[in-house]
Amino acid sequence: MPAPSQTRTGPTAVVVGAGIIGLTSALYLAQAGYRVTVVERESSACAVTSQANAGQLLYDRIGAMASPGFLQSTAKNLFNRDHGVQISGLLHPKRWSWAAAFARQCTDTAWQRNTQGLLEIARRSRDAMVRVTSMYSLDFDWRKPGKIVLYSTKEGLAAAGKTADFQRQFGGEHDILNAAECVAREPALTASGRDFVGGVYLPNAEVGDCSKFGTALADILIKRLGVQIIYGAEVTKLVREANTIRALQTTQGLIRGDTFVLATGGATGDLTGGRFAGKKQITSIKGVTLTFPCAQNAPDLSVTDTAGKFVVLRLGNRVRVAGYAMFSHDQSVSPHLVRQLTDKARALMPGAAIYDQPPDVWVGFRPTTPDDLPMIARMGPDNLYVNAGHGSLGWTLALGSAEILLNTIRNAT
Ligand SMILES: Cc1cc2nc3c(=O)[nH]c(=O)nc-3n(C[C@H](O)[C@H](O)[C@H](O)COP(=O)(O)OP(=O)(O)OC[C@H]3O[C@@H](n4cnc5c(N)ncnc54)[C@H](O)[C@@H]3O)c2cc1C
Repeated sequence: MPAPSQTRTGPTAVVVGAGIIGLTSALYLAQAGYRVTVVERESSACAVTSQANAGQLLYDRIGAMASPGFLQSTAKNLFNRDHGVQISGLLHPKRWSWAAAFARQCTDTAWQRNTQGLLEIARRSRDAMVRVTSMYSLDFDWRKPGKIVLYSTKEGLAAAGKTADFQRQFGGEHDILNAAECVAREPALTASGRDFVGGVYLPNAEVGDCSKFGTALADILIKRLGVQIIYGAEVTKLVREANTIRALQTTQGLIRGDTFVLATGGATGDLTGGRFAGKKQITSIKGVTLTFPCAQNAPDLSVTDTAGKFVVLRLGNRVRVAGYAMFSHDQSVSPHLVRQLTDKARALMPGAAIYDQPPDVWVGFRPTTPDDLPMIARMGPDNLYVNAGHGSLGWTLALGSAEILLNTIRNAT
């Protein structure tokens, strides 16, 4: 049986999951004096959804996915296999209940409430990122280049301006640019073959490699904070006595602790089942990233093309292109999809990447709740907490979520 972390004398906390959410949770708990053990079924950190995501740290331009316009705009393309957002998977009976809960969030009031909640976590994350990077040396291709979100119609840009006004109330900074100003800000758009009338410029947007950050953080947790990370151990059961979790049953034996945190992303329901009150459903939304070597005109800014529903940005000497939101569990990525995303990126920024070289193709599943807000809460038993369901923004929200988790645990104990 693996022993809990020994180097400190405080209470023990066991975190399940060494994705970006589990590792940042472990950081906050260890800094607060807990003896932390992280249990991960994969053989390394950030090996699942936190592996090759788009790398955006988007603190200002966050909006909940459920909005009055979402269902209308995507329903039109229900069976269009080339569309960037594909909701046909919601017709599957297993997703009906999530879809019904999601539909209830598609109101103006709910969108504003959920967006405000996300912006508040993002603001904490932005401040925490400054603290953490000044405390530890972490190499993760981190930059603050800003971002442009491009729109292809005047109506779309006007609506984006209104959204920006709402987000500004919570500290977001934005400028509305016309097409020429977008090109002046990001010269990689000079030869663009895609139509855009303008964009929203976000000066505070950052980029960074989530997996590199997680790998470096895991090293710091072990070497500097005495955290024990057990890889290759799958948690199969929560061992409960009355209203307390006594231990985790794992493929490497029982692991005991005082406090338990599930940072298990899309797999959280496998451990909690339907048992615990207050639990939100998490569904997986598939996305794809392609990573190419940089070419001469690689972008400085991160650029989202809202018409094509994809983002292009530079991480170190690589260009990453991310796209697609599909309600699907299918792990495969067809050559057609890779070609389509490559062609869109090439049209947007022809000189940005070596597009003729086969890219590294990655598929991930955003663990998404109906209201898009993560679950950061005590769940059922007195000493069981969940930090999961971060959807398309887990990298951005990770540090802020860990801070909220620690406050939640402190307030409850
Ligand atoms: C295509 C795509 C692009 C994205 N782009 C961005 C972006 O630009 N910016 C952004 O902020 N976010 C982005 N995201 C979202 C972000 O990647 C996720 O929200 C985040 O990675 C979720 O982290 P997590 O730690 O909750 O999940 P995971 O990284 O999946 O970690 C959960 C861990 O728990 C482990 N686990 C689960 N069950 C068990 C068990 N029973 N026993 C032991 N271990 C277990 C898993 O093996 C896994 O390692 C993107 C996602 C996708 C798919």
